[in-house]
Amino acid sequence: MNQPILECKNICFSYHNLNGETRALTNISFQVNKGEFLAIVGPSGCGKSTLLSIIAGLLEPESGEIILSEHEKKHIGYMLQQDHLLEWRTIWKNILLGPEITKTLTKEKEELALKLLSDYGLLKFKDKKPSELSGGMKQRAALIRTMVMEPGLLLLDEPFSALDYQSRLMVSADIGNIIRACGITAILITHDLSEAISLSDRILVLKRRPATIKKDIPVHLTLLENTPLAARNAPEFQDLFSLLWKEISDEYQGEN
Ligand code: ADP
Ligand code: MG
Repeated sequence: MNQPILECKNICFSYHNLNGETRALTNISFQVNKGEFLAIVGPSGCGKSTLLSIIAGLLEPESGEIILSEHEKKHIGYMLQQDHLLEWRTIWKNILLGPEITKTLTKEKEELALKLLSDYGLLKFKDKKPSELSGGMKQRAALIRTMVMEPGLLLLDEPFSALDYQSRLMVSADIGNIIRACGITAILITHDLSEAISLSDRILVLKRRPATIKKDIPVHLTLLENTPLAARNAPEFQDLFSLLWKEISDEYQGEN
């Protein structure tokens, strides 16, 4: 468990445009171990998505270094708020899009896709179009599409934000279970503190922009059953929630 697969060392980043420079990240350093589920929380606009884009290799850091093994670099999964399913393709065709594009579509991939669809209650929707599914089902389909690529590192940028509260609880629990069952290393950005506590092993709290790491909080919950919904009833939950709430609201205080 304690084998780091990602190391961020002193990451700094600024955006440059006609209005000048916006410094987004200052000296961000942390590491993520194999199989770990890390949540990142912080005030809106502090630089969370920027950090994820840098880890994904979509943006170059201004200074600092991202150390990621070759295998994980080639197998990064990225899931966003929108499901980005293609409406003209069936769910099955959407799920197999990645292997199709990368020319890695094999019988085994199809079997994996079928297993994931069946495990997560979408098998009977496989020949439907995305618009025929609920928001929660579409997000699950989007996750299966990502999982079919067998990512070594999964990056999730507020993936449940577009869902209503009820679906959000159900889908985040489902998705948490899928990720745990597959033992995938994941980084989840969320503004929902309960979600961060119930899904993750560790939570990084970022300061206001330019973001630095304010706190690195391990999450140890006493659970009767290992589900994210049960996590919300764990005895440690309330104290962790209060701690995070204080850290985040202190950041907003400075703005007034
Ligand atoms: P978060 O995901 O934490 O809400 P972002 O990483 O999206 O924050 O953005 C961090 C800061 O950088 C914000 O203040 C945002 O306005 C600014 N920013 C984001 N993208 C750009 C861009 N393309 N050009 C200039 N500034 C940007
Ligand atoms: Mg964001």
